[in-house]
Formats: sequence, C-alpha cells, structure tokens
Amino acid sequence: MTLIVLTAPSGAGKTTIARRLMAEVEGLRFSVSATTRDPRPGERDGVDYVFLSPEAFAARFAAGDFLEVEEVYPGRFYGTLCQAVEDTAATADVRAVVLDIDVKGALRVKDLYGDAARTLFIAPPSLEALADRLRSRGTEQPEQIAMRLERAEMEMAHAPAFDVVVVNDDLETAVDEAVGHVRAFLDERGMEG
Ligand code: 5GP
Repeated sequence: MTLIVLTAPSGAGKTTIARRLMAEVEGLRFSVSATTRDPRPGERDGVDYVFLSPEAFAARFAAGDFLEVEEVYPGRFYGTLCQAVEDTAATADVRAVVLDIDVKGALRVKDLYGDAARTLFIAPPSLEALADRLRSRGTEQPEQIAMRLERAEMEMAHAPAFDVVVVNDDLETAVDEAVGHVRAFLDERGMEG
C-alpha cells in the first residue's frame, strides 16, 4: 500500500493542484471519505463523499470502520474509511491511493503508514495572500472567511511536520513541484518492489 496525502488550508489551491496531479501522474486514485456534512449542489454520494447521518457515522466509528476521523468544523465529522482505501488500492493499475484530508488526519495517517505514506502540505504564500484569495473568490460570507483564516493559521503551524511543503505562489510552479515530488516518491517505492 502506497499513500499520498494532500492537505491545504481552504483557498490554498489544493483542489486545482490535486486535479492536475491526478491528470499528470499515472496510477493515482482518490479514496472517497465519509462525512456528516450535507452534500453541496452537484456533489454525489459515493463519488465526492459517502454522506452519512451523524448516527450512521457514529455507528461506523464504533464498528472500527475508520482509519482516522476528525471533527474538521464544529459538529461536522470527516473520516477515511479503511474499506475505501483498501478497495482503491486493489483497483487495476493503481500505484498510489490519494487522500485529501485535514492536517490532523494527515499526520495520523503518516503515523500509521510511515514510509509508505508521503504527506504534502500545499501552503499559500502567506496568510494575507490567503485572505485576499478567499475574499476575491466571493463564495464565502465574512464570518466564514474569518473562521477559515483562523483554521488556516492553525494548519500552517503544522506544516513543518509534513514530508513536503509546496508553496502555491505561482500555480504552474506549484503543480510542477508537486508532480516532481510524487513521481520521485513513486519511483522510490517502485524500487523497493
Ligand atoms: P469540504 O467540506 O470542503 O469538502 O472539506 C473540508 C475539509 O475536510 C478539507 O480540509 C478536507 O481536506 C477535510 N477532509 C475531507 N475528508 C476528510 C477525511 O476523511 N478525514 C479528515 N481528517 N479530513 C477530511
């Protein structure tokens, strides 16, 4: 099992970088997480997330179905399903399973998998730059922006614990860097056979 774990504060460009990584590096597959938050318009159950009621999520937690679980926002739980990771790893031509999870989840997975996992933190150039991006995106209310910035500050404090930090100042440079790291990691893993 080889895992690539992507983490980034909201607005740091993780979604775009993740999409480009998947397109440019062969053999990467996302593992779908479970969450208790409501689906956003266009999101599909089992594709974007496995959407669970708080009761169903708690039952699966009690059954030991999760590799890790975090309350990412107050009252909203997210978790990596062991089965999802295993099934993804078992699909044809997979070289690595990709997880898109928060800071604490990422560090937990690193503890569990060690050298079999590579953790990448996508950082904005600064908190000020992140604030500007969130404001110009215009999708969040001021209170939500404040909440996300507060969370970003906490997340950025954990960046040094990641294997790799990619600063997304210029998108193309950040994509190239992320692709380069992932390729090098897969080659290392490949050689270990
Ligand atoms: P969103 O609600 O915007 O889809 O995701 C919010 C945050 O939850 C993101 O930072 C995302 O990386 C994180 N997240 C998504 N799935 C998981 C998971 O399975 N475990 C953990 N720990 N965080 C997750």
